[in-house]
Amino acid sequence: MSQSVLERYLANNPDAVKNPEMLAFVAQLETVSQVAPEIAASIVKELADQRSNIKLIASENFSSLSVQYAMGNLLTDKYAEGFPRHRFYAGCDNVDDIEEVACREAEALFGADHAYVQPHSGADANMVAFWSVLMWKIQSPYLEEIGKKNLYDLSKEEWDEIRKQLGNQRLLGLDYYSGGHLTHGYRYNVSAQMFDAYSYGVNRETGLLDYDEIEKMAMEIKPLILLAGYSAYPRKIDFARMREIADKVGAVLMVDMAHFAGLVAGKVFTGNYNPVEHAHIVTSTTHKTLRGPRGGLILCKQELAEYVDKGCPMVLGGPLPHVLAAKAVAFKEARKKDFETYAHKIVENSQALAEELKKRNITIATGGTDNHLMLIDVRPFGITGRQAEAAVRECGITLNRNALPYDPNGPWYTSGLRIGTPAVTSLGMGKNEMAEIADLFALILGNIKPTETDGKISKAKYTLDDNIKKQAKEKVQNLLDRFPLYPSLDLNFLKKEFK
Ligand SMILES: *Cc1c(COP(=O)(O)O)cnc(C)c1O
Repeated sequence: MSQSVLERYLANNPDAVKNPEMLAFVAQLETVSQVAPEIAASIVKELADQRSNIKLIASENFSSLSVQYAMGNLLTDKYAEGFPRHRFYAGCDNVDDIEEVACREAEALFGADHAYVQPHSGADANMVAFWSVLMWKIQSPYLEEIGKKNLYDLSKEEWDEIRKQLGNQRLLGLDYYSGGHLTHGYRYNVSAQMFDAYSYGVNRETGLLDYDEIEKMAMEIKPLILLAGYSAYPRKIDFARMREIADKVGAVLMVDMAHFAGLVAGKVFTGNYNPVEHAHIVTSTTHKTLRGPRGGLILCKQELAEYVDKGCPMVLGGPLPHVLAAKAVAFKEARKKDFETYAHKIVENSQALAEELKKRNITIATGGTDNHLMLIDVRPFGITGRQAEAAVRECGITLNRNALPYDPNGPWYTSGLRIGTPAVTSLGMGKNEMAEIADLFALILGNIKPTETDGKISKAKYTLDDNIKKQAKEKVQNLLDRFPLYPSLDLNFLKKEFK
């Protein structure tokens, strides 16, 4: 009988039984590789990649192995349409328990009236939230007016009328090119097709939200939904002021905190800056600053709860019970004191990094940051965001290019780099390491040369001296070796066994 991978690991590591995380990882991969060895190998390669490149993608993080292991199991097999104790399938008792824990934990974590944890992603959460508001404000009053409850009792004329009304509502959200999300009314997203969508932008000079300007637009447009939240705005938002605007025009205030949910959970954003206190409905992802599994979340005031809980059948099919389990684990982690410290450190690191970059003559949009992210303006280096993104990745830094507001280079080439500190903070890095990262940017950005052919300067091609690349990569590896990702996992062993 040949030895199993797990046996080989145990034979070579007398203390292995004290490292259940590694044992579980090996056992899982071995089981996967019996069917798909190339997939097991890719998982190990991804670990290697993340251990040798600094992750500065503002929307990513490193979830705990507790979160990850809660996801990798038989719960994925279960159908559980409906909501806890109200299902369309038999045998949901355990999923009910899991979902109830996830909901109660989320409510306690955020101080929310009600939580709905089924959305598969942030985009799905927004879709459920939009339709919940439409049901609450448009469909329900219409049904009451015509004295009918069951949609199948409506005549064809009544049905056409309600569909027309649902399709004619106004949405006012942050412009995609000012840091808003695709789902906030971008024309290539269904949000702009189901709503009559309008957008506010940041101020051209300051790069900041101008609340008086938003109020003026809201007064003219009178939207059903005023939407706040962002994917690439480096400042905090005054949600009390946004609610005041919403109330003034009779709009529902919806906040999409996908990016900064961890900063709300960790009590960095409190008072006026805590959306849960001020918005009617709040959507989020669970995998960004919140550091949970990939998924979505909705929090709402009690009056909206009955609509939100109908996410299935309204928008969704069955939930992902394995992910609900992982969400419950993540919410429990986020309720610990450690998480508060972590959330505050994310912002301290972000502000330290912005200051260190500025000291090295690197331009930061709006001059700094209040949250976990910032935008570097690369134009002073005579390059595009696309060139900078590719060059820093060659040197061991993973991030994404991002259009600056009113970007002359458009959304493809861009003039910006978006940088976030949630992941490096999870690794345990602090202010000194932010200075090291700033050194790397200064070294790399200052040496990128756009390719020139026949006097035409490329927006995509560039050269970067091999010596600079080598220097930068060494510095990156030196830094990451001091802050290993998932230190319980023995990468050398995994690489040997799964290739
Ligand atoms: C990331 C993000 C989303 C979408 O989340 P997915 O899980 O990728 O669908 C929605 N809204 C905002 C503001 C985001 O930043």
